[in-house]
Amino acid sequence: MLDADFFHRWMTVTAASVDREAERLTALDSPIGDADHGTNLQRGFRAVRDALDKEPPATPGAVLTQAGRLLISTVGGASGPLYGTLLRRAGKTLGDAAEVDERRLAEALRAGVDAVMQLGGAAPGDKTMIDALVPAVDALGDSFAAARDAAAEGAVATTPLRARKGRASYLGERSVGHQDPGATSAALLIAALVDASADTEAGGE
Ligand code: ADP
Ligand code: MG
Repeated sequence: MLDADFFHRWMTVTAASVDREAERLTALDSPIGDADHGTNLQRGFRAVRDALDKEPPATPGAVLTQAGRLLISTVGGASGPLYGTLLRRAGKTLGDAAEVDERRLAEALRAGVDAVMQLGGAAPGDKTMIDALVPAVDALGDSFAAARDAAAEGAVATTPLRARKGRASYLGERSVGHQDPGATSAALLIAALVDASADTEAGGE
């Protein structure tokens, strides 16, 4: 079962990996965006990490709704409200359960991804974070590692696509040949699930 500590760790690991990859995310956002994706997310996930450390929420749902709210208020750019909506909707779906299983987490993330598609209007194939998130949620029923691999593959598979949503869509055909920054950061978020659960196993021994 996954408790509030697990979700807290998920956010902490994501913050660390966004810190580590911030330059790369910003570099990806340079040819098909405005070169701010790494700094945007770094600001957001640092705020999330600091707030959760200061006052750890008691339930998995509260961790995610709090994180989502902070991303919306601190991340400039399109990705803040989108990631914020993902986590907030997932958190609301988990309700106030003290612990949830992997299946509940998968359902909650599915609801979150649906909310992102509704808010941003993007579908799979539009060269956005959705191209990593949808395959990840589809694979989440198998394992966190399968979801991580599916998200990473989804991010790489955005390269030949033409962007149909967000800033990159202004470039039309010229967006082809570049990996989408948001799909790349979404893969980091999903990969952090694996590391957060590896920590549980290590800690439990
Ligand atoms: P901005 O484009 O405002 O500078 P960021 O650079 O932080 O914001 O984020 C850009 C990323 O946001 C894109 O790479 C894409 O994955 C994602 N994105 C943009 N618009 C949408 C949308 N409508 N739906 C889903 N994801 C989107
Ligand atoms: Mg940008």
